[in-house]
Amino acid sequence: MEIFEQVAAMQLACREVRRSGKTLGLVPTMGALHAGHLSLVRAARADCDVVAATIFVNPLQFGPKEDFSKYPRTFEDDCRKLRAEKVDMLFAPTTEQMYPRGASTVVHVEGLSEKLDGKSRPGHFRGVTTVVAKLFEIARPHRAYFGQKDAAQLAILRKMARDLNMDIEIIGCPIVREADGLAMSSRNVYLSPEERRQALCLHRALCKIESLVAGGERDAERLREAGLLVIAEEKAVRLDYLEIVDAETLDPVRDIKAGALVAVACFVGSTRLIDNVVLPPCA
Ligand code: AMP
Repeated sequence: MEIFEQVAAMQLACREVRRSGKTLGLVPTMGALHAGHLSLVRAARADCDVVAATIFVNPLQFGPKEDFSKYPRTFEDDCRKLRAEKVDMLFAPTTEQMYPRGASTVVHVEGLSEKLDGKSRPGHFRGVTTVVAKLFEIARPHRAYFGQKDAAQLAILRKMARDLNMDIEIIGCPIVREADGLAMSSRNVYLSPEERRQALCLHRALCKIESLVAGGERDAERLREAGLLVIAEEKAVRLDYLEIVDAETLDPVRDIKAGALVAVACFVGSTRLIDNVVLPPCA
């Protein structure tokens, strides 16, 4: 695996890949890699001739009171995992490489970026779309792989690619969970054993909603109420949002017959966790 820190070197290497007629798959991450990230790498490995991963803890997507400085950084370990998955190229730039002094251009998907996590994390999605647009421009991959775990992010990146006519196929990959249902996240390392137990209420709430849908419930508000009750049972957990929305527009739906995204975000202690489930269309 070749490691690139410089934008120009990564750009050149990716250009060579395309010139040789090979397909290039890109897997953007912030590092602290777990099995969720590696599932994206495997999907890319299965689809593409050359796989490039990126590790960059993007300051632009963290709010001033968020965890940018304490975000887990495990570079050597990450490199080992990526090598084991036969990743060809790793782009791990410094902040100065990505945002040279004076850089002032951002990419902002209006509307969608203010919904779900965008409501409680102002500027977050603008940071995400800006860095991903830059990574796309640097690597110009044929395909890019993102997790369904960040469902709003995936919807926003799809919209960005469409709106800006980016010739890149955005591939969404399923959520990878721990054995007990907790969605894998680099932030799970922040949880104390007690918080780790409390965090299961996110998955429990989603399962409750799915089981009510299986039992015939179609009304989004009643489903939402049932999910909220499950979260409320875990007294130490503070709800940020639980919403039932259209997976593309992220607008709330009244019933779930055409399919819906159920997305939840909670603070467990000081750790903010998210999870979601996609309800398929049903009669
Ligand atoms: P991050 O490093 O948190 O920015 O995540 C990098 C990519 O990995 C994003 O596309 C995430 O959606 C994806 N990802 C993170 N956790 C999971 C998971 N548990 N299952 C699947 N994909 C994930």
